[in-house]
Amino acid sequence: MAADRSYNAFEMAQSQFDRVADQLKLDEATRELLRYNLREYHVSIPVRMDDGNVKVFRGFRVQHNDARGPAKGGIRFHPMETIDTVRALAMWMTWKTAVVDIPLGGGKGGVVCDPHNLSMREQEQICRGWVRQLWRNMGPLSDVPAPDVMTSAQHMLWMLDEFEILRGERLPGFITGKPVGMGGSLGRTEATGYGLVFTIREALKALNIPPGDTTASVQGFGNVAQHAIELYQQIWGTVVCVSCWDQKDQTSYSFRKKDGIDLAELRGMTDRFGGIDKGKAKDAGYEVLPGGAWIEQEVDILIPAALENQITKDNVDRISGRVKLVAEGANGPTAPEADAKLHKRGIFMIPDLLANAGGVTCSYFEQVQSNMNYFWEKDEVLGKLDTKMTSAFIAVSEMASRRKLYMRDAAYVIAVGRVAQACRDRGWV
Ligand code: GLU
Repeated sequence: MAADRSYNAFEMAQSQFDRVADQLKLDEATRELLRYNLREYHVSIPVRMDDGNVKVFRGFRVQHNDARGPAKGGIRFHPMETIDTVRALAMWMTWKTAVVDIPLGGGKGGVVCDPHNLSMREQEQICRGWVRQLWRNMGPLSDVPAPDVMTSAQHMLWMLDEFEILRGERLPGFITGKPVGMGGSLGRTEATGYGLVFTIREALKALNIPPGDTTASVQGFGNVAQHAIELYQQIWGTVVCVSCWDQKDQTSYSFRKKDGIDLAELRGMTDRFGGIDKGKAKDAGYEVLPGGAWIEQEVDILIPAALENQITKDNVDRISGRVKLVAEGANGPTAPEADAKLHKRGIFMIPDLLANAGGVTCSYFEQVQSNMNYFWEKDEVLGKLDTKMTSAFIAVSEMASRRKLYMRDAAYVIAVGRVAQACRDRGWV
């Protein structure tokens, strides 16, 4: 989690975009429009802390593009949050909603804070304060937040409550990832991790490898990672290693069990941020290794499901020759130089905008259900999610083979092409 000052997520997102803009031969005005965010807001949030002192937190909301529908994307709580990271994440959301073809744009929010060191009351005040600063600029038909790193259904409900107090009406479509029973959708918590495994299943089908013959190593043990592991194990895959951040030691560790981790057992020794208790894990027979060890495991599949900029030029060469597939559960986990190497090595890439689009796809289902005030059974939600993810995967892989493109480039060509078309159709460019 240490900050790498040489890394700028927004520059990376822009350079990814530039490559595709060249391939699509986009005109100058469309490039200018899509290289930058349409709107961004910087806010200060004063919070009276439990000790009686007031602390001021910095927050952001960035709306990258809303040509295809309201801006959509999560809000992160993270001590290292920066405006450039939020800008990049907002742009990535635009491509993500476009690649799965849902009628939404892209946005992202963040607050510089560390929930590990905040009481629930203090976190509630941050949520409410963030909405008080931004409610005029957001809404069910303009910009819709959702959970992301270190935010949960409870945070979403506090934000919704504050928004509804200010507007004086019930507007459940303002936010997604709400608790089930309070406007949330069944399956939303699982959606990102499950969606990831739907794409892994399809990729393995394309590679002609039975999932039951595969092993995986996962970076992260938060919501995305845990649900991805859950479904991957249900299709008979074996996870041999997971890593997580250790708040006490301010570093990360990897936990390995060569014959496969026991998900329920590990969950039982994990805090709500995905931090696994080292001592308990050791007692249960896990090898505790340095944080970076997840990447060098002799496995078939690597699943980075933590934060951005994790597979870099410094560790990419440690990836074993056995790895056939990388599935990006996180947003932006692979730095461009490392990505070029993976491409050259012929490793099959399921890029973030496709691989982790299950969350926002289910958010879209949640909005539909909220608007109808009629909620579907879990199987129906997950069935629709599978259909959406599978057809997006097939569209991207067909584009990749037809135009002989790397999967990431194929996903971008489809996504950027759709957004550019929407901007043209509206007469913006
Ligand atoms: N935060 C998730 C993402 O990065 C979900 C966004 C949403 O549901 O709007 O895709």
